[in-house]
Amino acid sequence: MDLFEHQARQLFEEHGISVPHAEVADTAEGARAAAERLGGRVVVKAQVKTGGRGRAGGVKMATDPAAAQITARQILGMDIKGHTVRTVMVAQPVDIEAEFYVSYVLDRAAGRFLAIASAEGGMDIEEVAASRPEAVARLAIDPKEGVTRAKAADIAAAAGLPADTADTLVELWRVLIREDALLVEVNPLVRTAQGEILALDGKVTLDDNARFRQERWGAERETHDDTLEAAAAAKGLNYVKLDGEVGIIGNGAGLVMSTLDVVAGCGARPANFLDIGGGASAEVMADGLSVVLSDPSVRSVFVNVFGGITACDAVADGIVRALGAVQLTKPLVVRLDGNNAARGRAVLDARAHPLVQQATTMDDAARRAAELAGALHAPRPAHATDAP
Ligand code: GDP
Ligand code: MN
Repeated sequence: MDLFEHQARQLFEEHGISVPHAEVADTAEGARAAAERLGGRVVVKAQVKTGGRGRAGGVKMATDPAAAQITARQILGMDIKGHTVRTVMVAQPVDIEAEFYVSYVLDRAAGRFLAIASAEGGMDIEEVAASRPEAVARLAIDPKEGVTRAKAADIAAAAGLPADTADTLVELWRVLIREDALLVEVNPLVRTAQGEILALDGKVTLDDNARFRQERWGAERETHDDTLEAAAAAKGLNYVKLDGEVGIIGNGAGLVMSTLDVVAGCGARPANFLDIGGGASAEVMADGLSVVLSDPSVRSVFVNVFGGITACDAVADGIVRALGAVQLTKPLVVRLDGNNAARGRAVLDARAHPLVQQATTMDDAARRAAELAGALHAPRPAHATDAP
């Protein structure tokens, strides 16, 4: 489970990392009152579980409490990459001298943790890594040793961070271990004009397998999460929100993963991962469709089913019944293959829903879904490199 910035900030503070003074508000008036207590001039920050809030207009400076109220009114209710802003954090502004990036993340393949750090913080780290890979340091962390003082000094030196960030690097490791996190990220970690090292933004992803010993987040999981992922989880669906425009529904994690690849290969971006599993009953299909359709960034939906134990005609029945339960608002491209595919296709043909079309191959279906989402790229020549 991802935490909100203000929750990450709370964990940082509990483990000794300095953070700006801040309060959380869920109304514009509350933001004004918070600004009054914090000294007037504040930064108002959207609390959503996605990055790039600054760029989306979700992080704004306010010069006084009245301005904070107006700013909070603008930010509350805003949609940032499919996440509705329900609360804002009102923080004391900081005089930034330098911005750094630091994170610890589980590297599953290597069976270790990875420290990623850069002296070029504040921006999208993927962009920095793509354009100037030498500016991003990556150091493996032995999980049994962790980030000692010496290791922290190594990380700082490798990334070109000032030596006085080392304490924070040790404390951040403690957050990861004590709180059972899979990821802790601070972007930016700043040095202020006064020479203080402060975490100005924070992202923490908790390990759901450690839920049983992280009781404090129990209520949070159930109540405060109104994301599509939470809605899907409540329905028992295996759904992950992504940033694209083509909604994806498939049966089997492997098939769904390759569906994402094929859609991306057509130049479109998948809006989600959704595996409805081998059973694929009408109810599950209806639940899946309703979750995918309620994502405002979805412009077309690709249903990719390979019939196995649950045959395609049963899945097609499920889709037809789902169409009775859910109002279809976006075009649906269905590809049925495998057990009883022909019968399944006949069931959908008989239903003849104007927004539903069928494709026989995964590639063709992906291309059509991309086209319907308005995201189809010009097809590349098949053997561009072999051409004379
Ligand atoms: P993100 O866009 O979701 O990563 O949100 P951040 O919390 O990282 O804020 C984006 C940017 O706003 C930061 O990189 C800072 O440059 C800037 N910012 C945030 N808080 C402050 C602050 O207190 N003072 C100043 N000067 N800039 C800030
Ligand atoms: Mn940030």
